[in-house]
Amino acid sequence: MSELVQRYLDEVVGELAGVTDGALADYIPELAEVDPAGFGLAISSSDGYVYESGDARTEFTIQSISKPFTYALALDQVGEDIVDSKIGVEPSGEAFNEISVDDTTKTPKNPMINAGAIAAVALVPGVSPDERFDTIREFYSACAGRRLDFDEDVYRSEKATGSRNRAIAYMLDSFGVLADDPDDVLDVYFRQCSLRVTSVDLARMGATLARGGINPQTGRRVTSTRVVQRTLSVMVTCGMYNAAGDWVSAVGLPAKSGVGGGIVAVLPGQLGIGVYSPLLDARGNSVRGVLLCRNLSERLGLHFLTVSRESRSTVRAIYEPTPGIRVYELHGDLMFAGAEQVARTVQRNLDEFEVAIVDVTRVDDINDSARDLLAEVSRSLRDAGKQGLVVDPDRVVIRTGRGYHDSVFSTVEDALVTGEKVLRAKPTL
Ligand code: GLU
Repeated sequence: MSELVQRYLDEVVGELAGVTDGALADYIPELAEVDPAGFGLAISSSDGYVYESGDARTEFTIQSISKPFTYALALDQVGEDIVDSKIGVEPSGEAFNEISVDDTTKTPKNPMINAGAIAAVALVPGVSPDERFDTIREFYSACAGRRLDFDEDVYRSEKATGSRNRAIAYMLDSFGVLADDPDDVLDVYFRQCSLRVTSVDLARMGATLARGGINPQTGRRVTSTRVVQRTLSVMVTCGMYNAAGDWVSAVGLPAKSGVGGGIVAVLPGQLGIGVYSPLLDARGNSVRGVLLCRNLSERLGLHFLTVSRESRSTVRAIYEPTPGIRVYELHGDLMFAGAEQVARTVQRNLDEFEVAIVDVTRVDDINDSARDLLAEVSRSLRDAGKQGLVVDPDRVVIRTGRGYHDSVFSTVEDALVTGEKVLRAKPTL
């Protein structure tokens, strides 16, 4: 643990504890009776270490923070095509509990409003409400790294007062969105909203998304990176009720809030944040939760659209150990933009060498689009009558079976020996 980080978190929580604006959700007695002073923060790093401050172990109901997780589960279980045919991904601009569907498709506008969340529940496989709920609880629990409990009283109240959600479910049924009995689907929706979490759970669930679907504490993969990418996308555009624009500008983290007072926020690749404070603003977001996330984002530089440097220079050095042989030394993470830079540089220099040696010894990470582009570079060199050699001791670029390059070496020296042979074999002009 870093004392410095802990001290900083305690300090911010202490500073904001005096804020008493906002009101408890009061549509059911259980929410109207919680302690308004409750205030907790937890942050999980991507390697699973969790910082806690304030009431980070206080339990509250997950409510709408369930929505992105059930959406992820539906994507995971039945795939994008089926999910997309039933739920859109456009911000609605309407209240979260609006009785509405998209004018054209007659499907819910997104999975973060109640209509979309109820449709997502119906997509989770299960022959009975019990089985479907077990699958959902199991998935959330896998993300949190512990078995989550269920609040029977909140569930009963949600069910007893849920006329509006009933109206939504029956409307969805009339448009053919629900493949199941609307009351059964709603029963599972009310139950999922009534699962109890702590700020620590939310931080861990957020960190699981931050790690692309791997729970950093348990090491278990709970879903795919593709599912997480889709889920985080709708959290960015629709996660904070009607404050999505404000939130993205000021905080800049994919997030979801719930009327229980929780917020989960995610910094992809780095952190999961869980916050709890039940006093809500007019839009339904936790007042202190929003202030806290805003403060953390500003002071710790967490905005996900921060451009930290103009561009990551991928070509670390270009040198010519022998006339006619050019070495391109690459480093860092090689993604599309970096590989494009390499392709352009090599192409531009084409008249100046006979042999190009691309040295990727210092490349940390590479994706498939960069691999394909490098293969393209190698092909275009061949077409131009030149020779491309790759120094790839850890086989990060060249993977067996893909077969783009026939000339892979472990050191620049080895590649040079071959390069010089190539030069000698060339007819001199
Ligand atoms: N159970 C609540 C509902 O469905 C969740 C509300 C929320 O957290 O936004 O209306």
